[in-house]
Amino acid sequence: MSVLSTNVSACIGAGICANTAPEVFELDANGLVVIKTVEVEAAQVDSTDAAIAMCPAAALAWANKDA
Ligand code: SF4
Repeated sequence: MSVLSTNVSACIGAGICANTAPEVFELDANGLVVIKTVEVEAAQVDSTDAAIAMCPAAALAWANKDA
């Protein structure tokens, strides 16, 4: 199981994560990220990886990533 480490307070509301990995990220009423789960299923690791790479605020990271 891969585990996310997030700095939600850094989010600037770009919404890329929720579009890229909707199983893991969603946006609140203000357009800021809400982490649906910090434990990411293997099937969502690639899309979560892409979201982490594209977040312009560097608010998302892995605490532990199983390959
Ligand atoms: S991609 Fe980054 S800045 Fe954009 S909503 Fe997600 S966490 Fe926030």
